Amino acid sequence: MQTTFKDLNLSAQLLNAVEDLGFVHPTPIQEQTFSVVRSGKDVVGIAQTGTGKTFAYMMPLITDLKYSTEKHPKILVLVPTRELVLQVVEEIEKLAKYITLRVEGVYGGTNINTQKRAIAQGTDIIVATPGRVYDLALSKALNFKNIQKLVIDEVDVMLDLGFRFQLLNIFDILPVRRQNIMFSATMTEDVDALITDFFKSPEKVSVALSGTPLDNISQQCYDVPNFFTKVNLLNHFLRDKETYTKVLVFAGFKRTADLLFNSLDESFAEEICLIHSNKTQNYRIRSIRQFDEGKNRILVATDVMARGLDFDGVSHVINFDTPNFPENYMHRIGRTGRAEKEGQSILFSTAKELEDKTAIEELMNYEIPKVALPEEVEISEILTEDERPREDREGSKNRTSLEYVPGPAFHEKSEKNSQTNQGGSYRREIAKKYKKPKTRGDKNYNKHNKKKK
Ligand code: AMP
Repeated sequence: MQTTFKDLNLSAQLLNAVEDLGFVHPTPIQEQTFSVVRSGKDVVGIAQTGTGKTFAYMMPLITDLKYSTEKHPKILVLVPTRELVLQVVEEIEKLAKYITLRVEGVYGGTNINTQKRAIAQGTDIIVATPGRVYDLALSKALNFKNIQKLVIDEVDVMLDLGFRFQLLNIFDILPVRRQNIMFSATMTEDVDALITDFFKSPEKVSVALSGTPLDNISQQCYDVPNFFTKVNLLNHFLRDKETYTKVLVFAGFKRTADLLFNSLDESFAEEICLIHSNKTQNYRIRSIRQFDEGKNRILVATDVMARGLDFDGVSHVINFDTPNFPENYMHRIGRTGRAEKEGQSILFSTAKELEDKTAIEELMNYEIPKVALPEEVEISEILTEDERPREDREGSKNRTSLEYVPGPAFHEKSEKNSQTNQGGSYRREIAKKYKKPKTRGDKNYNKHNKKKK
């Protein structure tokens, strides 16, 4: 039998509030999180927006929040954006319809004095973006001494946007004895590192996608020796424009996404766009629009940036690298095969990534059919800076890991047979782009636009 809110032992006030909203059954993340949050342990929840995660952490927190006239807040909720501050405050207000509870939202880009005056009235819950709440604390407008619960929502987005430092600053001025609750839609290396460094043996609750992929997504995988052979294989697929009509290419890191984009740009300049969090908001919006509308056939994206996006009719998801966290693979392939349409997912793995592939297969309880590399795809012997043995890299400490540095294998090979030097053009292209100081601007985008005029 499906659980109802009554089964959660909600107070009459909370129960009435959810009933007023017309909610009958708690969502899976709400059901799973309730008692864990109440236990007082650190909690890591893996859930996307839309799963009811705000109520999932707020229902148990409010259940245990006692009425108070104390000035200083007891609960701090950190979120990455102003929009989310407003949304979370609104959700809390709905839930607290029959409870006397004070909630305040604070975010940057608006008058800090208005926010100071609001806080001075006293508050129980503060919902905030990290930068502004830190400023308020430093200026003594806000006192954290009573904070018992810290919630960090959408932590993957927060870290991807570069807020790690701000989070650490806030941790430093919070009471040590507190409960940490974190929600993230995807697991990333950064999220994992934050949990390891700051959480005390957290309980993990997850509605991270069941491991069962949709029937209408067919999957394949390729063992590929290195980055540039992956580029060659991808090039090989993308040349078939009739089959590969709308292709979402996932790269785990911004630097891989950049390097890949630059490598493909040579062959598919008019057809490719890119999205990751170092790109400006305008650049990202344009990339999304161009891909969605079919003006660009190929979108290269990082996991965090692409996860909230819902594109119609993606023909292929290419996993250019094998995600470390198996849930991310489920997120990625779910971008295709939507709305009853057939979709295809292709996974590339180097020898180093095979362990991650096994983890994915275990999660799905399904062995992804392996396909041999097509003969016409050249095996590149060129290695990226990241792929070269460490001692080899010593001489090039000052270079970015993006910059391709020809290793001994490259010279030998090019002397022996310069005609099969399939990576040389990428090398030139990359050298051209990265020799100059790297900027965060829209260089590539501008270049594209110029070309298109
Ligand atoms: P969230 O994942 O927190 O962004 O929530 C997504 C939406 O689902 C919000 O509009 C909530 O008000 C709504 N919601 C939350 N819990 C439930 C529930 N148990 N049943 C139906 N809708 C819900």
